[in-house]
Amino acid sequence: MSAGLMRVAAEDIPVENPSTGALAGSVSNMNETEVERLVAVARAAQPAWQAIGFKGRARHLRSMQRWFVDNIDRVATTIHEENGKSLDEAAIEAVYGAIASAFWARKAHSYLADQKVRSRSILVFGRSMFIRYAPVGVVGVIGPWNNPLLNNFGDVIPALAAGNTVILKPSEVTPLTTLLMVEMAKEIGLPSGVFQAATGDGATGAALVESVDAVMFTGSTRTGRKVAARCGERLIPCSLELGGKDPAIVLADADLDRAAAMIVFGSMHNSGQTCTSIERAYVEAPVFDEFVAKVTDLYRSLRLGESTALGSSDCGSLTFPPQLETITGHVSDAVSRGATILTGGHVQPGVGRFFQPTILVDVTPDMACLREETFGPTLPIVKVADAEEAIRLSNASPYGLQASVYTKNKRVAERIARSLEAGTVTINDSLANYFALELPMGGWKDSGLGTRHGADGIRKFTKRQSVMRTRFPMKKELHGMPFEAKNSRLLRRIVEIAYGHPRTS
Ligand code: NDP
Repeated sequence: MSAGLMRVAAEDIPVENPSTGALAGSVSNMNETEVERLVAVARAAQPAWQAIGFKGRARHLRSMQRWFVDNIDRVATTIHEENGKSLDEAAIEAVYGAIASAFWARKAHSYLADQKVRSRSILVFGRSMFIRYAPVGVVGVIGPWNNPLLNNFGDVIPALAAGNTVILKPSEVTPLTTLLMVEMAKEIGLPSGVFQAATGDGATGAALVESVDAVMFTGSTRTGRKVAARCGERLIPCSLELGGKDPAIVLADADLDRAAAMIVFGSMHNSGQTCTSIERAYVEAPVFDEFVAKVTDLYRSLRLGESTALGSSDCGSLTFPPQLETITGHVSDAVSRGATILTGGHVQPGVGRFFQPTILVDVTPDMACLREETFGPTLPIVKVADAEEAIRLSNASPYGLQASVYTKNKRVAERIARSLEAGTVTINDSLANYFALELPMGGWKDSGLGTRHGADGIRKFTKRQSVMRTRFPMKKELHGMPFEAKNSRLLRRIVEIAYGHPRTS
C-alpha cells in the first residue's frame, strides 16, 4: 500500500498483517456526521452519473477493467498484507475485478433495458405496457474481511453500472483494499463523489444504513439480521449474503481423484475463510476409506505459511483474531465428543496466525464442527449409507448457501441437486460458479436474502416503474363510470366467453 493512503491518528483503526503481525496501515474510524457528509456528496453526484447513461458508464467500467489487469500485483499485495491469504488467491480477487467490470459494462444495459409486457387480461385490452428500471439513488455496500475486494468492491460495480452512486464500508479488519479502490477511481477518472469509502467499525456500518437508499450487505447472519431489521424499519431494500455450512456429497461411483481435489480446493481455499467453503463432507460407505485417504494425503501436502511470492504457499493465515478461538473450539469440542483428527488439529507455532489444515472423522451431528459455521481450514467427514442419508444430513442445517455433489451419474446428480436446500449446487465441481457472473448466487434459509450476479444482481439496485398507455382511447371504458346495466351485462358475457372454459382461456 502507498504511504499516501495512511492516516495515522489516535482515533484511527490500525490494520494488522495477520501473517507477520506487522502494522499494514491505519484508517480513520468515521462517525455518523462523516458518513452523512459522504452520503450528501454521493446524492449530489448521482443525477449526473445517471444522466451519462449506460454507454457513458460502460466506458468508465472498461477503464476499470483495464486498471485491474494492469494492477494485479498491486491489488494482490494489498489484499495479502491485510488479509493474509496467499498472493495467488489474492490475485484472483483482482482477476474477478476485471471480469466483473467487463461483465457489467456489457450486460447492465440489457438487464435494465425497458421490458415490454403483454397482458391477456380482458380488462386491459388495447393497452401497451413496459417496465423500466430506475436507479435507487445512493447504495451502501457493507462488506466482510475474508474477501476484501470480491465481496466488497465486487458488489459496487453492478450498483454503479445501474446508475447509482455508491459508498462502500469495508470491514475494519481489511479496509486497505477499499482505499486502493478509491485510488483506482481517481486514476481512471471516475467522476468525483460517484464512489466513496466509509472506513470504520460496526457503528460506521450502522450509520451508513441510516442514510442510504438501499443496502447490499455481506457478512455474518447475526449482523445481517440487524441490518435487515433496520432496513425494514426504514423501508429501504436490502440484499443479504450471509454465512454458510456447505455440504459436499460423494457417491460410491464418483471419480474419487476429482472429488478429493475439488473438495480440498473447496474447503481450503482462503484457509476455509470463504462463505461458500465446503465445511462438511458426506461420503457413501463403500468409498469412505479410499476417499478419506486421498483427501488426507492432499491436506498433508498443503504448504501452510506466509506467501512471499506466487506459488510459495497454499494456505495463508487467519485474518480475524477471534476466528482462531472458533476453529480451536470446534476441533476441541469434536475431539472431546469422540472425533479423531487424521491430520492437523492445532495452531501452527511461530509468527502469524496460522491453523493447520485439519481432517476430522468419527464426527457426529451434535458436534459444533457439523452444526455451526467454522470458517477455517477444517473438514469433518461423515460416512453415510446412501444418497438419501446424505441429503437428509445436508439439509439438517439452518444454512443453505451452496452444496456440491460428486457422482458420474448425471441424472442422479441432478435429482440430488433438486433435493438440496441450497442457493447453488455444483456437480463434480466446487466454487467455480462464482466466476459465472450470468449465474445468480445467493443463500436460502439463514444464508441470506436476494442474489448477486445475473439479472437480479443488478435489478436489486433499481426501482421498478410500470408504465401503461392506452392505444385506443375511448370516451368511456366498458366498466367506466357511471355504470350502465347493459355494459355490465356485456362484460359478464365477455368474461363467460373468455374465462368460462378454463382449459382454453
Ligand atoms: P460481520 O457480520 O461481523 O461484519 C460484516 C460487515 O458489517 C463489517 O464491515 C462490519 O464492520 C459491519 N457491521 C458490523 N456491525 C454492523 C451494524 N450493526 N450495522 C451495519 N454494519 C455492521 O461479518 P464478518 O466481517 O465477520 O464476515 C464473515 C462472515 O461473512 C461469515 O459468516 C461469512 O460466511 C460471511 N460471508 C458471506 C458471503 C456470502 O456471499 N454469502 C461472502 C463472504 C462472507 P466491522 O467488521 O468493522 O465490525
